[in-house]
Amino acid sequence: MITRFAPSPTGKLHAGHAFSALLAWHFSRRKMGKFVLRMEDIDQQRCRPEFDDIMKQDLRWLGIQWADPVRHQSDHLAMYQSMADQLFDLGLLYPCFCTRREIQRELEAAGYAPQDNQPTAYPGTCRRLTESEQQQRISAGHDYSLRLNVERAVDRVGGNLIWNDLLNGPQPVQPDLLGDVILVRRDIGCSYHLCVTVDDALQNITHVIRGEDLRDSTHVHRLLQALLDLPVPQYAHHPLIRGSDGVRLAKRLDSETLQSVREQGVSAETFLKDSGLSDLLRDTLSRFAEADNPPPQASPSP
Ligand code: GLU
Repeated sequence: MITRFAPSPTGKLHAGHAFSALLAWHFSRRKMGKFVLRMEDIDQQRCRPEFDDIMKQDLRWLGIQWADPVRHQSDHLAMYQSMADQLFDLGLLYPCFCTRREIQRELEAAGYAPQDNQPTAYPGTCRRLTESEQQQRISAGHDYSLRLNVERAVDRVGGNLIWNDLLNGPQPVQPDLLGDVILVRRDIGCSYHLCVTVDDALQNITHVIRGEDLRDSTHVHRLLQALLDLPVPQYAHHPLIRGSDGVRLAKRLDSETLQSVREQGVSAETFLKDSGLSDLLRDTLSRFAEADNPPPQASPSP
């Protein structure tokens, strides 16, 4: 059993990250498994080495020990690109020249009203370009990302994909939930969806434990596993931790960071108890245990 914590060092950790990391850590201890740390730092514009260091100090303060070495995704960009090449060679990726503003305009024209910053599926504009239109734009030097053609991907792998969520049971995959996602960003040559899926497989992760904000992404990851013939881990998407005002925690608010708690001389134990995280951890871990060991079915009476 191997699980992981996979933060992006684009800011500092908060109570929500502590919860995710501790869930994975305690679960690995209970199962006598392994816990690894992965820095998802493909976006070198936004990631900073000092955040990497602060995150490690936070995790040590929480009592978490990871198995060395820590994987840094930025060390493996060529490998992710070769995985993208495989998908490209299968005819499953297409170049997208749209800017965010153009996508927004197209969605508005189609009657979409932006709500709660919910991600909206790409409207498919560049999927409709002919090969010669694509070539013309590429030769004219237009920048492009590469998107997954979900319809073709589904044709290739067939329907009926499923993954198991320890907290919610078997989940049928909705491959087009996020639409034709970007797998190769124009600036860095890969993307979160591609790298996380490849790394979970390469690091032999058996249990992916993360916040429910990433549940929709798991539909994409499961599809990529089928396309790239990768093993399928079990998943647990836990509820997000909110601040006392009910708002989701954000890395950018310094007052909410683990570092600021630590530097006030508070112990991790006190912090977890006072914030209610200890109880939540215990409850969530016992739900994992139930899912792992389902109660025996009552046998029919003789
Ligand atoms: N790197 C992602 C984040 O910091 C998490 C990825 C994952 O757990 O799958 O939000």
